[in-house]
Amino acid sequence: MLQIVHPNWFLRRIIYPSYIYNFDRSQPYLYLTFDDGPTTELTPFILKTLAQYNVQATFFCVGHNLAKYEELHQAIVEQKHTIANHSFNHVHGLKNKTEDFLDNVALFETVQASNLFRPPYGLLKHSQIKKLLCGAHPLHNPYKIILGDVIPYDFDAHNSTELCWQRIVRFTQNGSIIILHDNKKAQDKILNLLPRMIRHFLEKGFQFKVIS
Ligand SMILES: [Zn+2]
Repeated sequence: MLQIVHPNWFLRRIIYPSYIYNFDRSQPYLYLTFDDGPTTELTPFILKTLAQYNVQATFFCVGHNLAKYEELHQAIVEQKHTIANHSFNHVHGLKNKTEDFLDNVALFETVQASNLFRPPYGLLKHSQIKKLLCGAHPLHNPYKIILGDVIPYDFDAHNSTELCWQRIVRFTQNGSIIILHDNKKAQDKILNLLPRMIRHFLEKGFQFKVIS
């Protein structure tokens, strides 16, 4: 039998009630998000595809990659997508002291301002959540912590593109935040899935919005 959802997924809403998983369920709006970029392998394709369909998205970038690929950083900004904080070095909240973790989130702010944060691996200590939400020192502002309700696991080599597609179709609804990856592991799947899902949901009457 196909494993349609990851079993720990539902638990997360209970463990982390202050994360945002979706927006208003009464409006036909969808929120495409791309984690871990920018990357030379995939960002140009993502930007070209979004432009082709006149669709906006939110990029939860790694600060180190933004600093390394300045042209891609500029291209995302010029196409009016939103860039959000995914830490500077993709740091794991549970494996780092709160102070070190926040320093890394603050380091991201030196390359790009944002009030949106997505924790790498989706995991944080409660002390980190509290400080992110109130914008404690050394952060420059409070953050909304954004996760999502549609996770196709496009980064996982054990999943076929078709299984990812089934997850996307089955779980996407009004207000869904869809978590995709702008990295090498997801490359083959995104090349196939991104144009397909944009066409599919536009035909169904959905509009794509950036998270703000
Ligand atoms: Zn990530």
